[in-house]
Amino acid sequence: MDEFDLIEHYFKRPTRHAEVVLGVGDDAALLALPGAQRRLAVTTDTLIEGVHFAPGASGFDVGYKALAVNVSDLAAMGARPLAFLLNLSMPKADPVWLTGFRDGLFALADTVGLDLVGGDTVRGPLTITITALGTVAPGEALTRSGARIGDRIYVSGFLGEAAVGFLARSGRLSLPPEFQASVLARLDRPLPRIEEGQALIGIASAAIDISDGLIADLGHILQASGVGAELDLRRLPLSDVYDGAFATVGYDPALVFGDDYELCFTVPPERVPALAGIAPRFACGFHDIGAIVAGTGLVVRDGEGLYVPARAGYNHFDG
Ligand code: ADP
Ligand code: MG
Repeated sequence: MDEFDLIEHYFKRPTRHAEVVLGVGDDAALLALPGAQRRLAVTTDTLIEGVHFAPGASGFDVGYKALAVNVSDLAAMGARPLAFLLNLSMPKADPVWLTGFRDGLFALADTVGLDLVGGDTVRGPLTITITALGTVAPGEALTRSGARIGDRIYVSGFLGEAAVGFLARSGRLSLPPEFQASVLARLDRPLPRIEEGQALIGIASAAIDISDGLIADLGHILQASGVGAELDLRRLPLSDVYDGAFATVGYDPALVFGDDYELCFTVPPERVPALAGIAPRFACGFHDIGAIVAGTGLVVRDGEGLYVPARAGYNHFDG
């Protein structure tokens, strides 16, 4: 049973309140509070030392990334950031680490406009759980279930930057120093696409953030929407750094590693001009990588023929 089967089997069940507009299964839950003009988007993610970041990682990077992965889920819903809660478990209270952690956390909180409103602090293995809250107008949230046959599939920014950073850090890939710095920054301090997500309201039919790899995360859109997709690898947005490493690493880091926190979204053909209209506002760019088709599952082509990645994507309980 993998991570997602496990959630489905043990935890997914009907909800009792009409105010629960969207429950388990998307990037955030959506709650309609009585009398409120906007809906509350709620998401949570945990980072564990030795699983999500290396022992000895800087406090700044850990604080920044723990919040970034949550903000990225708000971005994928098209939500406006509101507030967050911080649950911190650590073996000892090291002032140097805590100062760095706090600075990284609040650097991103200030960039996107999130207030820290609570949490819990306990002694234990270094683990950070953040719950982030955002708001979105009724009916406007971007969900995983809205993709339709004929929609184009897009991703923001470049894919595989975090993967290349990870390979470089672990010594499996050697890069010129200036390249190394740029991909490590993408791994340690991803830029959640919060402005982009809100701009995609009314344009995207479905959206998800890429935390587990394009194949896995697009797969969630396909499953939730009941459709299939065809991807053309020649259209995959890869940076110059990735291109330089391509002969060594191939396509897979961009497809199955994850940790990029870019958005993957679908756009009905008639709204492609609207996407072109907002695109100049965003430096990351939006790249058309394929189309939604009838059926189920994902067909990946690389010009010569079908392409099969070595594995599906990051999964905490795979096999
Ligand atoms: P994301 O990568 O967007 O953070 P996940 O892959 O972690 O989402 O989780 C998939 C969905 O399952 C989300 O809607 C999440 O809230 C939900 N989920 C994950 N774990 C649990 C759990 N233990 N109980 C209930 N829902 C869960
Ligand atoms: Mg997500």
